[in-house]
Amino acid sequence: MEITLVSLVNTEEKLIASFAKICRSKDNLEKIYNEMTDKDCERLIKNIIDDNHLSLFEHTVFTFFIKDISRVATHQLIRHRIASYTQLSERYTNVNNFCILESMSNNEEVKKQLQIFYNGVVNFAKELEEKGLSKQQIRYIYPQSSASNILVTMNLRSMFNFLSLRLAKDADEEIKSIAKIFYNAIKVVMPITMKYWSEKNNIVVEENTDSEK
Ligand SMILES: Cc1cc2nc3c(=O)[nH]c(=O)nc-3n(C[C@H](O)[C@H](O)[C@H](O)COP(=O)(O)OP(=O)(O)OC[C@H]3O[C@@H](n4cnc5c(N)ncnc54)[C@H](O)[C@@H]3O)c2cc1C
Repeated sequence: MEITLVSLVNTEEKLIASFAKICRSKDNLEKIYNEMTDKDCERLIKNIIDDNHLSLFEHTVFTFFIKDISRVATHQLIRHRIASYTQLSERYTNVNNFCILESMSNNEEVKKQLQIFYNGVVNFAKELEEKGLSKQQIRYIYPQSSASNILVTMNLRSMFNFLSLRLAKDADEEIKSIAKIFYNAIKVVMPITMKYWSEKNNIVVEENTDSEK
């Protein structure tokens, strides 16, 4: 799996702190922003999180592209409705790549058997294509481990919900690793926000491993 942060909008924390001040000041945004000190910025971000004034984070939006994610994980991901998605279609492409969990690939015997199974799926798909079946029909034979690509755009408030659910102890391995990569990417650009949000929600996330970088 490969995750790329494609774009980010309104991630500057001084800007978010200025948005918060609009609620209490009649000044225009430019003046509020220009007068905002680093100390005020941190205090305001902390207050926003402490007070659950989370709609402010709806102005902050991230787009990630995830390559070689399983259909298991894309199904879990798209259950998060407050986001936008664009996914590779199996109506127009063949599946010839499958995702094996790290925890499964450690077992050489299982890995070998899976390879035989996946080769069988690919060969069966070819046979069906030769018999004149369309890709739209053939996709019904593919397992949930089929590799897919998906583009996801999510605002930070919805991302907080995603992260708290998918970083949890009982979350599935693949979606958890996606949540971890999202979290660490966001922390780089919004360190104050992620610090106070994580503290409030008792979230502790390790740095990405080499394979996740
Ligand atoms: C560990 C785990 C196990 C799971 N197991 C299952 C399972 O077995 N079966 C299953 O079907 N799903 C399962 N889910 C999926 C889960 O039920 C949610 O669909 C998914 O986590 C998306 O969360 P969400 O609805 O909060 O997110 P979003 O859809 O992004 O919604 C964000 C928030 O907006 C609000 N919201 C959105 N839509 C509505 C609405 N229609 N009405 C009221 N409020 C709304 C809610 O406050 C919601 O939390 C599981 C999730 C986790 C994390």
